Amino acid sequence: MLRVAVIGSGPSGVYTAQTLVGQEAVPDVEVYVLDRLPCPYGLVRYGVAPDHEKIKSLQNNLRTVLEHPRVHFLGNVEVGGAGVGLKELREIFHAVVFCVGAATDRHLGIPGEELPGSHPATDFVAWYSAHPDAAPDGFTLTARSAVVIGVGNVAVDVARMLSRGAAELAVTDMPQKALGALADSRVEDVWMVGRRGPSHAKFTTKELRELGALPGTQVVVRPEELAMDPGYRDASGLPAPVRRNIEVLHDWAERPVARAAGMGRVRRIHLRFFLRPVEILGDRPSGVRAVRFERTAPDGRGRVAGTGEHEEIEGQLVLRSVGYRGLPQPGLPFDEATGTVPHEGGRVLKDGVPYPGIYVAGWIKRGPTGVIGTNRPCAKETAMSLLADAAGLARRTVAADPVAALERAGARPVPWRGWLAIEAAEAECGRDLGRGPVKLADWAGLLRAARSAVVGR
Ligand code: NAP
Repeated sequence: MLRVAVIGSGPSGVYTAQTLVGQEAVPDVEVYVLDRLPCPYGLVRYGVAPDHEKIKSLQNNLRTVLEHPRVHFLGNVEVGGAGVGLKELREIFHAVVFCVGAATDRHLGIPGEELPGSHPATDFVAWYSAHPDAAPDGFTLTARSAVVIGVGNVAVDVARMLSRGAAELAVTDMPQKALGALADSRVEDVWMVGRRGPSHAKFTTKELRELGALPGTQVVVRPEELAMDPGYRDASGLPAPVRRNIEVLHDWAERPVARAAGMGRVRRIHLRFFLRPVEILGDRPSGVRAVRFERTAPDGRGRVAGTGEHEEIEGQLVLRSVGYRGLPQPGLPFDEATGTVPHEGGRVLKDGVPYPGIYVAGWIKRGPTGVIGTNRPCAKETAMSLLADAAGLARRTVAADPVAALERAGARPVPWRGWLAIEAAEAECGRDLGRGPVKLADWAGLLRAARSAVVGR
């Protein structure tokens, strides 16, 4: 028997578990998938936007893995900090795979970043996704203008969520308080601002196109700004995904969309480029009032250089969407520059040599890039390394009962049936509100629902 702990139940964790139990070369692999939250699926539940139902439905695939007879989900188990330490984990499991993602946001390092009204976009995402660490009434949306810094897919997500109408959001599983706040939102203008040109934007075409399809919303681009980009003027040498982005932007520039005419309330999403944020303006306690940008220009080497020309964009809400960042893990080496754990083929490297029995997969291994599917080959590589090490790993004696041992270490795990009870409670909550399932947004509610299903162990 080989008993493995996978830390994190997002895509990389679940795909790791899937590879470990889906092979026959090493029989009797038992996988315990531990998560800090009582709910599984990581960013599929708490990052994928609620109106992306198709991507959300990936949860069904992940569920099949977590219901495998040799996979055991244990929620509400924190690793590190006040939770279970690496030493204890090693006494319970033959191997530990960290699939913890990139749990924090990157900083801009400019004045005004901490003013009221300036938030990491990931906080906004956590709020509308009902993450229990986010305050349910964290955003009131009294702003008339919102500035989103960055042009990646998270920026597109938050710009779209700020622009969607209440009726479109009511059919999602968004928590009731966030739905109410977005329904009452006074935001009319959303500015999405990139420091480089359109040929270096990180968003994908499908996500970009969706902005143009939002009812009651105009997408505004500035042809002269797009044309500053040599790649925009001549896209022939660019990779196909970038060319497709350029085509969409070109279409918007050539044919300004007037679909919103006659639809009552109109919102605008302004896509801006070649603007580098230099300061968030405002004061305490009133909060942000604008973002000051420096105009940039291509430097001929794929980067940009400041021109000394400045522009202020008004905004009472600023969402900084400049990427995620991994956090150091207890007892593991950490590369501060990339926010990842050094590894070779998924084997953690401590002082340059493999740390026996310790592995990484997903964003903590390769950094916060790629779509959900990118985690499949990444997790498979790690799982194959682990399986190749199996004979040596299985020689170590581990605790007889892993759940009892975790409890002795101070954890109060929520097993799979506890999660099923949370799902049932969310369906009931939605029924009471005349909606489909509605996510529970607080720790107490989640744990109460989970415990209702757990009698003994
Ligand atoms: P991202 O794709 O890395 O985009 C970050 C953006 O922030 C880039 O435009 C970057 O510009 C900009 N930026 C970074 N530092 C900056 C600074 N100091 N000043 C101004 N701008 C700065 O990150 P993300 O949007 O957080 O997405 C993370 C990952 O999740 C990506 O792989 C994304 O595709 C994925 N995701 C996918 C979906 C989906 O498939 N629907 C949805 C959400 C997220 P530079 O390029 O100039 O650095």
